[in-house]
Amino acid sequence: MCGIVGYIGQRDAYPLIIKGLKRLEYRGYDSAGVALYEEDGVIVKKKQGKVSDLENLVGTKYPNSKVGIGHTRWATHGVPSDRNSHPHTSNNDKLSIIHNGIIENYATIKVALAELGHNFRSETDTEVLVNLIEEIQNQGQLTLEEAVREALSKVVGAYAIVVYDKDHPDVLVGARKSSPLVLGIGDDEYFLASDASPIIKYTNKVVYLNDEEIVTVNRKEGFVVKNIKNEVQKVKIQELDLKLEELEKGGYDHFMLKEIFQQPVTVAESMRGRINAEDGWVTVGGMQDHMDQFMNASRIIFVACGTSWHSALIGEYLFEELARVPVEVEYASEFRYRDPIISEKDVIIALSQSGETADTLAALTLAKEKGALTYGIVNVVGSSIARITDCGSYIHAGPEIGVASTKAFTSQLVILTLMALNLGKQRGKIPQTKYRDLLVSLETLPSKIEKALELNEKIKYIATEIKDSQHALYLGRGYNFPAALEGALKLKEISY
Ligand code: GLU
Repeated sequence: MCGIVGYIGQRDAYPLIIKGLKRLEYRGYDSAGVALYEEDGVIVKKKQGKVSDLENLVGTKYPNSKVGIGHTRWATHGVPSDRNSHPHTSNNDKLSIIHNGIIENYATIKVALAELGHNFRSETDTEVLVNLIEEIQNQGQLTLEEAVREALSKVVGAYAIVVYDKDHPDVLVGARKSSPLVLGIGDDEYFLASDASPIIKYTNKVVYLNDEEIVTVNRKEGFVVKNIKNEVQKVKIQELDLKLEELEKGGYDHFMLKEIFQQPVTVAESMRGRINAEDGWVTVGGMQDHMDQFMNASRIIFVACGTSWHSALIGEYLFEELARVPVEVEYASEFRYRDPIISEKDVIIALSQSGETADTLAALTLAKEKGALTYGIVNVVGSSIARITDCGSYIHAGPEIGVASTKAFTSQLVILTLMALNLGKQRGKIPQTKYRDLLVSLETLPSKIEKALELNEKIKYIATEIKDSQHALYLGRGYNFPAALEGALKLKEISY
């Protein structure tokens, strides 16, 4: 996943964009770039490597631009290189674009554009898109917004984009489909970003764009959101409940360590208001409202990828043991590319930390088309999965910045356990004593995790003993089988 930051307002755009790109570094990337605007033109600087390499390239003499776009790229089309980095400019050098995603039909469009005389300076699908916008704009004498809309109606694939036309320096146009894009609204200033982390320092008012929505931000006139059919959309301005400290390392060497140590708190947060062992109740909001469908479900199907898929495997054991409902666990990328048999009596539960996992989103769309009830278990509030599912539960683990998931995994397991207990109780499948014991065990989980974390020094010692091994084998049976898979994944991710 790459990162996008766009800014238009009264501040110096460059330092703000660089800070924003650093906040998005956790998403992974291979190169970074910015486009800044001066009265007589556009300056594009881009570099393979880290955001700090880009900073070295730009140096201290950057234009005092009040508008700009920046990008961290994770190459999909064309090798990681300076040339393929974003922003890309159109042939007439008027339009600049940053893009997250894949334009699947770029090859055919590229051929057509080449016949019309367009040259390409990179191997990316993104450069094809910006030239398509230029071509459409020129042919129809269209505004940037109109040209973007028309171009997007011709492309197949996934995108979050921000486009700038140097002839209209007060306007930025953003759009999304299957890749996230958030609009931040400040005082006479606007931000466009892949998530809220680059924005939160300046404003907590945001609009999460929906698929196939196009936002035009005008420094003087404000913003308007339209859909791809040019219909103005009513937007919901949300207040972010996110604190800047949550995005800092808080004294730890790196985010993953911080997040491991947060687990006594995050696990408690996931349970807050959902369980009371003394009074013997469990309640899971999103589930309660659709209990009939859960009670009558012929099966529950989990869809997920990576760590969330391991959580789902544990979820299968939990639901089958505690609620005696048949469960299937699907890898979302496999599910979406075959023709799975799904009926209206199925409940599809999607797990994703970010709530943006593209394959899981696609699997949900398929499940919805077939009439199944869809349920999301996600961490990021307002994310795409949270919005497209019929119901769901947030895990409330707070921002997970470390690329290797830790606290989100344990919080997912808490939610799955609560759900299985809830359903098991409703279906009369759990003996009362077992139900009570499990509730008590859950409530004591945070203190047990604290105890486990006290082993840190011993774990460090063990790590020094095994660090030069060439192979590691994780063993586990029952609930510990998916846990072993997750352990192995952690070691692979981290040693990589
Ligand atoms: N497909 C684009 C490229 O290869 C964007 C990749 C990304 O999302 O960073 O440049």
